[in-house]
Amino acid sequence: MRCLNPATMQIDLHFRDEFHSKIEVNTGVPLPKPDEEDPFYINESHLVDLGEAIREYALLEMPMQPLCKPDCKGICPTCGADLNAGPCNCQSDQTDERFAALKALLDE
Ligand SMILES: [Zn+2]
Ligand SMILES: [Zn+2]
Repeated sequence: MRCLNPATMQIDLHFRDEFHSKIEVNTGVPLPKPDEEDPFYINESHLVDLGEAIREYALLEMPMQPLCKPDCKGICPTCGADLNAGPCNCQSDQTDERFAALKALLDE
């Protein structure tokens, strides 16, 4: 969220869902489409592929603001340097202009 470094996190996933057969197993007769938006299906070989379900549920569990490490310093908004690797050159002369008057007093 703050830098471009890869972030790794563990996600505990618990889900319950229904997988629909497209055909009546004994007769091969096509079954009506389930009354559900984007249902999961059992494939033609009568196998359940959990891949898509895991992908969708994992996306829901992912943190909204993933960080590469809890104290990630992010990138410099001016030069784009990764501040985790150390301060960049433009950081030293960045001052908050609202305090410029106070700084002038200190300089006197
Ligand atoms: Zn980071
Ligand atoms: Zn910088």
